[in-house]
Order: sequence, then structure tokens, then C-alpha cells
Amino acid sequence: MRRRFHLPDGVIYLDGNSLGPLPVAAAERVRRTIEDEWGQLLIRGWNTGADGEGWMGWPTRLGDRIGRLIGAPEGSVVVGDTLSIKVFQVLDAALKMRPDRRVILSDSGNFPTDLYMAEGLIATLGQGHELRVVAPEDVATAIDEAVAVTLLTQVDYRTGRMHDMAALTALAHDHGALAIWDLAHSAGAHEVDVTAANADFAIGCTYKYLNAGPGAPAFVHVRPDLQDRIAPALSGWLGHAAPFAFDPSYRPGPGIERMRVGTPPVLQLAALDAALDIWDDVDMPALRARSLELSGRFFDGVSELCPSLMPASPADQTCGSQVSFRHDQGYAVMQALIARGVIGDFRAPDILRFGFTPLFIGESEVDAAVSHLAQVLTTREWDQPQFLARKAVT
Ligand SMILES: *Cc1c(COP(=O)(O)O)cnc(C)c1O
Repeated sequence: MRRRFHLPDGVIYLDGNSLGPLPVAAAERVRRTIEDEWGQLLIRGWNTGADGEGWMGWPTRLGDRIGRLIGAPEGSVVVGDTLSIKVFQVLDAALKMRPDRRVILSDSGNFPTDLYMAEGLIATLGQGHELRVVAPEDVATAIDEAVAVTLLTQVDYRTGRMHDMAALTALAHDHGALAIWDLAHSAGAHEVDVTAANADFAIGCTYKYLNAGPGAPAFVHVRPDLQDRIAPALSGWLGHAAPFAFDPSYRPGPGIERMRVGTPPVLQLAALDAALDIWDDVDMPALRARSLELSGRFFDGVSELCPSLMPASPADQTCGSQVSFRHDQGYAVMQALIARGVIGDFRAPDILRFGFTPLFIGESEVDAAVSHLAQVLTTREWDQPQFLARKAVT
């Protein structure tokens, strides 16, 4: 699989959990879409792309391809916009389905944009909703009859700690609440089955483990029996029942179509399509086993050789495909490591984060990364001005 990715020489890339590397086929595919489709077909591409299938159908066709990776049935996933937008859409849909309840339950390990979007929606609705944020380990006990919807990210972006999606969904349902699952750090990282978990809504992004490139669109899954009950807040023309009838007022499209908003990002979808080809040949249980093997090896190596780092991740099967450690100069340590060609990232306030993506990472990279990290720490290589000054993206 490694040969299917473009990886620069001299780099050990442990950040595929944040921005997946370039699939070789994606570069070629995007070039073809630009030159042969946009260049030659012009506006005709919407109806007939070079492969005879119009661009307009790509958001649902690619949605179905992603659906296979998360256990969602055909016609229940659509691609578009960014994950922040998808949080807003599904949260609004869920709140409208529970008009007599006022609480959105989330946890303090959630990615901030999910919480920010909830705050913005609450202010926009002006109906006295409350965002209740508890510690991740307290979510189960915080689900009560006031909760309209749980808004949880399965894998904690900082630590990799993983929620039990099926158990928490069942608990939410027992209390009459709906469950939204953010799969940003799950899709393409391990097996996910939204159908077995009976999730009401699932959302995620495609530029992390799915390798569709910077700014690639998000996906949204709505359980089939709920789709036609959604009154979309973002009632854009491409979610309309008949976009090209140009009706003066909105009528939601059938099923998952109504979660579309506006014009799809065709070039980015071409990259996603090529990136998804790789997944046709991946055995997810094998990928997961390998991810645990590699992250376990890294965890053990760092624990042995870098005593100044404090583990921030669970050291077992409840961890996603990443390992994190705490260090009070974590930012500078990571910058020094990146200068050596080992790329991970830093998450405030003190987390060094390393992603293990078995499609292109193996034992030799894991061992080399441990050794570089140990050298950076024992020689205090990080303690230099160029590593201590913070950049915009950490
Ligand atoms: C990466 C990530 C996002 C990013 O949202 P965008 O709108 O795509 O920038 C949101 N939520 C979670 C949980 C994430 O991990």
C-alpha cells in the first residue's frame, strides 16, 4: 500500500491522522478532471463527466463509497461542505426532532469546532437550549430525560481515547435522546458500524485518514428512517427536491439528498474518489490490528527511552489510531522533531500527538521516530529560539 502514496524522502510521517498524504492516483485523477473534464467538457461536465457520469451525482456516489467504510447502507451518506457545517446541520435536525427537550450533551474531549457550532446554533435558535459539557468519563451518567441529543466524537482528537459508540447510543435512546457521532478520527482508522450501533447521525471528514487532501469535503450519514423527517436548516438549492425547477420556495429533496447545500467541490471530489480506491483493497480488521501493533510499539519505545514524557493515551484497545504524550515544552519538542524529519503535531496545552496509519507506516519508521524523539529530549535540542516560537498551525 505504501507505494500508492507519495511520501517525500527523508520524512517519517506520523500525522496522517490530521492530513493524510497524497495518494499517487489522486494527483493524476485531479489532473485529468481539470484538463479533460473542466477543460474540455466545460459546463457539460455536470451532466456527463469524462466517465459519462455527471459531476452532480458525485456527492452521493462518493457518499456510498464512504458508507461502506462506516457500515452505512446505500443512500444514507452524502459528501459536501466541511465538518463544522455538517455538525450544524445534524444538530439542528436532531433538536427539531426533540422539540420538548433543551439539552445538547457533549464532552470536554470534543473537538472545539463541534462545541462552537453548537453554541452558534443555540444562539441562532434562541429557544433556550443548553450545551452541557461533561468530562468524557461522565457522559454515560449525564444522559437523562432532559437531553435532546448527544454530540460526541468517538475518538478524542488529543488523546485517542475511544467512546463505546453502541453502548452510549443505546443509553441515549433509552432516555429518549438522539445520538450524533463525529467520526473524524474513526473513518479509515478502524472498523466502524453505524448501523450496528444504531447511530441516528454520523459525520466526519475526508482529509484525515481518508487521504482526500487539504480542505476535502465532509460526509454526513442519516439513518434511513430519519431522513424524511429532517427539515433542513441550511436549505440550499442542491438539497431541493428539484433544483433545476428553480421554484421560488424550498422543498426538501428525497432522503439524504436534502443534506446537500450548494455546488459540490468537483476537483476535491476527484481527489477523494481516487483516494477511496485504496480502501477497496483494505481489510479493516487487519488494518486495526496493525495500527494497534505499531502504536503499541511506539508507546513501549517512548515509555522506555523518554521518561520525561507522560502518556496521555489509553494503552489498550480503547485507543484510536494515535498515541499522545504530555510535555510542558511539547510545542518546542515537536518542532525539533519535525526539523529532524519526523512529523507529528502538537495540541495545546501540552500534547505531542503521533498518528499511526499502517497503510504507509511500518516498524522501521516507528523505531526511528522513537530514537529521534529520545535524542531531542536527552540533548534538550528543543530548547532553541526557532523551536520555541509558535506558528499559526501547530
Ligand atoms: C478535524 C475535525 C474537525 C474539523 O472540522 P472542519 O470543518 O473540517 O475544519 C471537526 N471536528 C472534529 C472532531 C475533528 O476532528
